[in-house]
Amino acid sequence: MDRQQEFVLRTIEERNVRFVRLWFTDVVGQLKSVAIAPAEVESAFDEGIGFDGSSIEGLSRIYESDMLLQPDPSTFQVLPWRGDHEPTSRMFCDILTPDGEPSASDTRGVLKNVLSKAAGMGFTCYTSPEIEFYLLKSKDLGASGFPEPVDSESYFDHTPGGVVQDFRRKAVTTLEEIGISVEFSHHETGPGQNEIDLRHADALQTADNIMSFRTVIKEVALSQRIYATFMPKPFTEHAGSGMHTHFSLFEGDTNAFFEAGAEFQLSRTAKHFIAGVLKHAPEFTSVTNQFVNSYKRLWGGGEAPSYVSWGHNNRSALVRVPLYKPNKMQSARMEYRGIDSAANPYLAYAVILSAGLRGIENEYELGGAVTEDIAAMTSAERRAMGYHALPTSLHDAILHTEESEFMAETLGERVFEQFLRNKRQDWNAFRAEVTPYELKNNLGIL
Ligand code: GLU
Ligand code: MG
Ligand code: MG
Repeated sequence: MDRQQEFVLRTIEERNVRFVRLWFTDVVGQLKSVAIAPAEVESAFDEGIGFDGSSIEGLSRIYESDMLLQPDPSTFQVLPWRGDHEPTSRMFCDILTPDGEPSASDTRGVLKNVLSKAAGMGFTCYTSPEIEFYLLKSKDLGASGFPEPVDSESYFDHTPGGVVQDFRRKAVTTLEEIGISVEFSHHETGPGQNEIDLRHADALQTADNIMSFRTVIKEVALSQRIYATFMPKPFTEHAGSGMHTHFSLFEGDTNAFFEAGAEFQLSRTAKHFIAGVLKHAPEFTSVTNQFVNSYKRLWGGGEAPSYVSWGHNNRSALVRVPLYKPNKMQSARMEYRGIDSAANPYLAYAVILSAGLRGIENEYELGGAVTEDIAAMTSAERRAMGYHALPTSLHDAILHTEESEFMAETLGERVFEQFLRNKRQDWNAFRAEVTPYELKNNLGIL
């Protein structure tokens, strides 16, 4: 038993924790949870806890459904929203096969593999997400056919003041209570749309934090009798919800993305990394933007990127190099703006980092930064300047992924197949459905 495991057992005892929830994530990023009694925790550390993986999306094939959950003691946390009466705690888990090997279906494991490749190249990967979401009065649709946001900003819906401020205060306090540091929180452009930015952490911890974040936001909303959604584009008329993420690679205490005096203070390593991300972006967009609805955001304006490009102060760019503190070595980073708030964070960070690492390994050359608004150019101008489009639909994205040797290698054959199977099902179901759009535009005249 190591020190972290001992710490967990001691805390459970001292705080009289009644339930220990084991958390893990399915292939599309849904959080799964099983509660065990405190008496089981020691053997969960030693041998794992058995469960039937066959009914979890993307986890295992029917004929090999026995799996084990092994809790990661460094993620132990008492959950404040369950109250002090019978304290409840959680740990994130790795998924193992019955012979104790890491399961090839575990998306947290996919990210761990990419991070150990990065470590082999001498890098620690830091990430910080800007998470956007909408606060709605409820899940139900209003008379307009859309959900009803809790506040109006510039729109019709008017609610008594204070709802959103109260929400953010409670959400941020709860996040801090479970060890997630918040840097900023503010109202976003859409009615009821909010953004909370988390402080940087290593990429695995950030992905765990995002899973916790979604739960906290949903719980706090519920406690205030409102509903929070991370759906990429709930309104045709308003901006979608992105999850821009800032990436940097450190070698020890040195930020490998920084070079004093270089253009945008970007080192060669940073440029190769960005070039790798841009090269593979169309192939990995099915992961960073995994739903039919994700493409309504990417192609719906509202400052979401539609073309593969990078720049400094350009909101239409897919990758942005912010220069908040240009001379500070620690803060050099790149921001990936494509990813949306409904992505599986383990897979999304795995594919972005893996693409960047490929760029470094193969010394991909980075083209020039874009300064114009690409969306406002004609398609001939875009073609002439070499700006490729991101996939325009889930179907288009699936086709790019299917062809990608890079994606098969990064996800591993098992997750690659299971993810694609899930996405094809989603696309086929959507394709079969007669939509309100068709009824509105065809029924009356045809
Ligand atoms: N909501 C926008 C998006 O979907 C981002 C707005 C911003 O720049 O923060 O990506
Ligand atoms: Mg924002
Ligand atoms: Mg941003």
